Amino acid sequence: MKNQPGVVKHDPLALPSALDNLPAFLEGKRPAVFLDYDGCLSPIVKDPAKAILSAGMRNTLQQLAKVCSVAIVSGRDRADVARLVQLDNLYFAGSHGFDISGPDNMHTEPGGAKAALPALDAAAEELNQQLNSIQGALVERKRYAIAVHYRNVQDSEVEELKRITAAVLGAHPALKEGLGKKIIELKPNLDWHKGKAVFWLMEELNLNKPDIVPLYIGDDITDEDAFASLQGRGVGILVGEHDDKTAAEYRLENVEEVETFLQKLTQHLTL
Ligand SMILES: [Mg+2]
Repeated sequence: MKNQPGVVKHDPLALPSALDNLPAFLEGKRPAVFLDYDGCLSPIVKDPAKAILSAGMRNTLQQLAKVCSVAIVSGRDRADVARLVQLDNLYFAGSHGFDISGPDNMHTEPGGAKAALPALDAAAEELNQQLNSIQGALVERKRYAIAVHYRNVQDSEVEELKRITAAVLGAHPALKEGLGKKIIELKPNLDWHKGKAVFWLMEELNLNKPDIVPLYIGDDITDEDAFASLQGRGVGILVGEHDDKTAAEYRLENVEEVETFLQKLTQHLTL
């Protein structure tokens, strides 16, 4: 992610615990809770299709959604993350916020990504052909992105994978590169990201008010856009750590701590 002016970055390991500082950081306000899925609600697994939500976490989310607005903001397709979560009182922002749904048949695509569909189709086909010879490379076509996974690629072949992917990307100006853990992502070349989706939802749900504090919980580089957008307005909570400095202000250790945190938050709001 680019360095943005005015955004304060921290060493992830130096951040104070969100668990220890709840409810103090709410400053007496009501929260709206935005959560990434992979690595926050479900542990990272080798096969993205197997990142299921535990029954305990589902129950925790359901209880929380009874007392405040809860939205899942994911790089996954909206339908995919909605299928994994299986709760109908939550909002789902898939494709990094390009595709949003919620209760009462709400469904909208606020970022203008439809125009990039032909380029995504063409690039996915080229990547499938050209990465075919690299063992372990996985090209995952999502609705509004292509993820090139190299978690299972030999170190000696990663450079070649990156070179091929960069060449395909260069041939499609309608697309740009996004980053993630052990993936290269090709996504619509538009000024839209998880942070913009959070603010779009806050407006849409009438939550952009002084007595509401947005919390954003995420673990990945793509969540940094949301952390940066929320600085001075809400609270960013990083789960674990990634390879870079973070614009989050608190941290949680892992998925188990996220669950404990959400339970504690529900308890606080129920009192
Ligand atoms: Mg994640």
